[in-house]
Amino acid sequence: MIEMKDVEKRYPNGVRALNGIDITIKKGEFVYVVGPSGAGKSTFIKMMYREEKPSSGTITINGTRLADLKEKHVPHLRRNIGVVFQDFKLLPTLTVFENVAFALEVLEEKRTVIKKRVMETLGFVGLKNKARFLPDELSGGEQQRISIARAIINNPSVLIADEPTGNLDPDTAWEIMDILEEINSQGTTIVMATHNKDIVNTIKKRVIAVENGRIARDERRGGYGYER
Ligand code: ADP
Ligand code: ADP
Repeated sequence: MIEMKDVEKRYPNGVRALNGIDITIKKGEFVYVVGPSGAGKSTFIKMMYREEKPSSGTITINGTRLADLKEKHVPHLRRNIGVVFQDFKLLPTLTVFENVAFALEVLEEKRTVIKKRVMETLGFVGLKNKARFLPDELSGGEQQRISIARAIINNPSVLIADEPTGNLDPDTAWEIMDILEEINSQGTTIVMATHNKDIVNTIKKRVIAVENGRIARDERRGGYGYER
């Protein structure tokens, strides 16, 4: 479902962030992407939601080669791939409800449909009672749950998470993992870049280690493998 063949990424400044990347991630997998800072993890996952394009090689998502994707079909791809960030990236002037509804409103759904879907999704992340709040009135863990709700509102087949627990205390990080595991158990593929050694070593999943722009390890139930 996500396939990279001989992918290379050079940034305009000449930095070669990735080189010779070959990887297949199947539907329903949960994958951690680990590695030192600057190794290329973010670049690797940005390719999957077309935030960055490869300099050479091919990327195929759900059978579509990204290079062949017409600009007008990019929004469709994006709807099928939810993204969660370390710093949440919620819109500060919109309420929780509005932040989550945003992705549906773009689709011109009916108000009643939007309201039902948003409240169901807020219920799923345990924050129905915070619908009227603004993001900065919530804790970090709550903001991350809202950003997860926003990411899954369109039922994407893939959820990409770039260090989703990076700004959270350990207890809150485990709560976020519970939610991600629940989403994964419903069939959504999850690709999560992380520096959280405890989580990777405790909730065993496939581990892809990126070092110096290459895949250094790919283990079915791997460990974190670095000191921190
Ligand atoms: P990681 O997520 O593992 O920390 P990144 O993918 O962010 O690694 O970065 C890999 C390499 O690419 C680093 O050398 C970084 O400085 C460089 N890099 C990342 N983004 C850009 C960019 N937009 N322009 C130029 N160089 C970049
Ligand atoms: P209500 O409180 O309207 O009977 P809910 O309990 O489902 O219905 O609503 C929960 C929260 O979501 C409330 O704060 C409500 O104001 C908010 N909300 C519902 N629909 C919308 C909307 N279309 N836009 C913004 N906020 C909404």
